[in-house]
Amino acid sequence: MRLDVKGILHTPGDGIAFNEELDLSDVDFGGVCPAVRPVSVVGSVRNIAGMLRLQMDVDTLLSCVCDRCGSPFEKPFHISLERLLASELEEEDNDEILLLDDGAFDLDELTREAYILNMDTKMLCREDCKGLCPGCGANLNVEECRCKKEIDPRWAALQKLL
Ligand SMILES: [Zn+2]
Ligand SMILES: [Zn+2]
Repeated sequence: MRLDVKGILHTPGDGIAFNEELDLSDVDFGGVCPAVRPVSVVGSVRNIAGMLRLQMDVDTLLSCVCDRCGSPFEKPFHISLERLLASELEEEDNDEILLLDDGAFDLDELTREAYILNMDTKMLCREDCKGLCPGCGANLNVEECRCKKEIDPRWAALQKLL
């Protein structure tokens, strides 16, 4: 959605609220698209003493696959974002300032970018996921390793005697 803020550009104290759902199910992280549910985008743009301040919250529930054990799990995703909006930039490389195009900006694109930038690089079903045994493939969170324990040959010889 393109959000037009021309109406509040010159009226300190005014604001625009927005509340939309965005489909980010096509955003792919290494073959997994975790945003299977609509992403909620709620916020406002306010004119505070002549400066336009954008504040927004982005929320959804992600469907993930654990990088360590391969189990599917769900995880809430939340970011809070603040930006100043300006019709022209004075300093070129200021990430906090969003440049308006004809008094408007693309809310969906901003949300999509923030979603990608804030995605965890590692997806773990839990902080201490034990993963899979490289030998037998057992999921060590829920089962015992089934690898045959190598028996010490000296111990095996002793066992025979007994
Ligand atoms: Zn795991
Ligand atoms: Zn094993």
